[in-house]
Amino acid sequence: MEKIRMSTPLVEMDGDEMTRVLWQKIKDKLIEPYVALETAYYDLGLMHRDETDDQVTVDAAEATLRYGVAVKCATITPNAQRMDEYPLKQMWKSPNATIRAILDGTVFREPVLVNGINPCVQNWKKPITIARHAYGDVYKGTEFRVPGAGDASLVFTQENGNQTRLPIHTFNGKGILQGLYNTDESIESFAHACFQFALSTRQDLWFSTKDTISKVYDHHFKDVFAALYEETYKTDFEKAGISYFYTLIDDAVARVIRSEGGFIWALKNYDGDVMSDMVATAFGSLAMMTSVLVSPNGQFEYEAAHGTVTRHYYQHRKGEPTSTNPVATIFAWTGALNKRGELDGITALSQFAKKLEKATLQTIEQGKMTKDLVPLFEGDATALTSDGFLDAIVETLHTLL
Ligand code: NAP
Ligand code: MG
Repeated sequence: MEKIRMSTPLVEMDGDEMTRVLWQKIKDKLIEPYVALETAYYDLGLMHRDETDDQVTVDAAEATLRYGVAVKCATITPNAQRMDEYPLKQMWKSPNATIRAILDGTVFREPVLVNGINPCVQNWKKPITIARHAYGDVYKGTEFRVPGAGDASLVFTQENGNQTRLPIHTFNGKGILQGLYNTDESIESFAHACFQFALSTRQDLWFSTKDTISKVYDHHFKDVFAALYEETYKTDFEKAGISYFYTLIDDAVARVIRSEGGFIWALKNYDGDVMSDMVATAFGSLAMMTSVLVSPNGQFEYEAAHGTVTRHYYQHRKGEPTSTNPVATIFAWTGALNKRGELDGITALSQFAKKLEKATLQTIEQGKMTKDLVPLFEGDATALTSDGFLDAIVETLHTLL
């Protein structure tokens, strides 16, 4: 079979530990035999980030701005313990945070559904994609431990020196205080990304906040979405046969549980953090959750939602076989290849990506899977090693090509 040719390279961001091991195997066994893969390669492995003073992460993000589509392997975000483990110059920032800051994107997380692995919520038939605003609020908050009785107020000083002062609370004793913010620019780009992603995947968009209690802050999110929808997206949504729906977060939670799935649920930063873990767990496993960062200018960066699976890597380093689930990483590759095919008009590339996804799912449906999925599977299941599972996918893929 002749290999499928590409016309634009994918930005390839290599990573760390067990996922780096799987990364190479996925390329060797599942992609390169069929695709004349062209990538702009960036090694985001921790030691190379350290050697380049993290410039490689910035370069990779900027390449994504130029080429439009990237695929990223999970990477270590160094903490104190990693500083002991590796001889690092400094505790480098999370690569994902650096990339997000450059692409200014929104993260969409979607579970991979397989027959035989049923969601805890029985009426969920289709995936629920969580769109999490990835900027500000409590993640950029300022906190203060109130030491004793006193007055707290909110002060805003304009550039011209004018001040607005709002009372918060008069403390009679010890307490706690928190200051949060967001910007119109960030909320607007979040809204654009959500509307565009809904259109490109032809799914309804839900958005929820606590605007009844947070009458200025959360209400502003609601207003920004509503205005953009009316001005910019309503006609396209109607043409695509999809809808935009705002509801209070309490109501949304109840509706999500009773729904069939098959929509995008947009959430503020903290709500999205919590709800994406809940939805991932209810659908089965973090190892089956894919993630794509979409910039307001239409760049896409695909990755697995899980980390570098450190415990398995230590096992691998001792020479022991692992049973690490490659599904989310495979789907990061297929997501990127499919998007590249779509953008460049290379149907064969998109079709190959879809077949590889199908082969992965069919292999699990035949009862062949990694250890983490065995207890979730209804029916006879065999736990394979990482290599054994990838080889089984290759076999299924051959029946589809
Ligand atoms: P993790 O790598 O997601 O792994 C946590 C545990 O979940 C694993 O020990 C394993 O459980 C299970 N697991 C996750 N993915 C799996 C897979 N593909 N197959 C089988 N089991 C899987 O999270 P972590 O241990 O908290 O973080 C490890 C490193 O990853 C950290 O350095 C962190 O900074 C980094 N990280 C990176 C990203 C990213 O790049 N996007 C995201 C999160 C974390 P068992 O051990 O019980 O088998
Ligand atoms: Mg979380």
